[in-house]
Amino acid sequence: MTVKSPTTSAFDDPKQARNQRLRKRRLGMSFLSYQATLAVVILCWLAELVPAHVVIEFFLLSLLINGAFFLLIHLGINLRFRDPSMTGAQMVASLLPPIWVMYFLEVAQARTIFLLIAIVPALYGILALRTRQFLGVAFAYLVLYGGLVLAIWLTRPALIMEKLSIEIIQVLAFALVMGQIAIIGGYISGLRKEVRERNQELRAAMQQIRELAHVDELTGVANRRRLMDVLTSEINRCRRSRSPLSIALLDIDHFKRINDRFGHPAGDAILRRVACSVDERMRDIDCFGRYGGEEFMMILPQTDLKGARTKAERVCQSLRETSCDSLQQGLQITASVGVAQYRDSELAEDVIQRADEALYQAKTTGRDRVTDERQLSASSPLRATNTVDHDNRA
Ligand code: GH3
Ligand code: MG
Ligand code: MG
Repeated sequence: MTVKSPTTSAFDDPKQARNQRLRKRRLGMSFLSYQATLAVVILCWLAELVPAHVVIEFFLLSLLINGAFFLLIHLGINLRFRDPSMTGAQMVASLLPPIWVMYFLEVAQARTIFLLIAIVPALYGILALRTRQFLGVAFAYLVLYGGLVLAIWLTRPALIMEKLSIEIIQVLAFALVMGQIAIIGGYISGLRKEVRERNQELRAAMQQIRELAHVDELTGVANRRRLMDVLTSEINRCRRSRSPLSIALLDIDHFKRINDRFGHPAGDAILRRVACSVDERMRDIDCFGRYGGEEFMMILPQTDLKGARTKAERVCQSLRETSCDSLQQGLQITASVGVAQYRDSELAEDVIQRADEALYQAKTTGRDRVTDERQLSASSPLRATNTVDHDNRA
């Protein structure tokens, strides 16, 4: 068995611990399967085909084999093997108790019963072994069976010589069956491997799709869909915990001019830089994303209007200080921000609308500033009509 150094302790890695538990459970199943065979051994004893001590020895041998494998798994020693499930070794070891019984059988034909039973463990290999490993196990089976026939021939030659032709055909048939199981088993385990690989690819693709569904392609920050999801769940949390929740809408000033003067790709680069710069200033519990075009949203849980305003002012200041010298020496990016705090039992659209009105006011009163909902003038047209019009701003 090939040995490699363990990378992680079974006790540290939950996935590995789960696999180890699974291996122990499989071992339990294997022990039960031995007990089914034990019933056949008892029948053989009742039919006076084997002496009584063989029944006890079969049980003890199965206990010893399962106990040894259990210990290897329990101590984590199996993790050092290339195949921590030790499938091949378990398959070969499982043949030892039937071989032991076969040795004591008084009637040569009765050996067929246990040859039939010996095939069952080989079927377990279908779940794990490749054709070549399977052929190795089949070869080990034949060597063990050959050894058994030799041992009987040496101690009780009459049992073998009586019907030598049947013995030879029996060995050949056993070799044929084992060879075919190896080929079919190898083919099936190859298919399972392929399915596993496809599943892994599928999982990776699903993960990518999930990320793409939440991420703005241009800037890499959250997209509008994600922002709305987060806002909805934060509103629900806010209702439960009664802690404050604020949002801020940020719109880059005169962004159209940047596009017009430096081209669309330069405009895109500015969008990315602004997104990155603001995102760096967010706390873990905040959510920042692109709401649309050159407009961004900050969702600030556990933050009241005053706190949100302070945060927005810091963000505006940092944007002013963001260097855009690569486009033009001394070029300054500024943004206007509208801030609003969520009010009990209102809808997400309501708080967004107030932030939008505040943003509109920041634009109309000179840009490069933060306006919060308390500063909204009663004459605000958006306030009066209760609509949001992104395209008709000055
Ligand atoms: P204001 O200060 O009033 O916000 O003026 P503005 O020029 O920023 O606003 P306006 O709504 O007139 O123009 C927004 C511009 O943003 C127009 C549009 O071409 C540009 N824009 C929207 N999305 C993108 C984008 O993904 N990339 C680039 N480069 N430009 C974009
Ligand atoms: Mg703008
Ligand atoms: Mg805009």
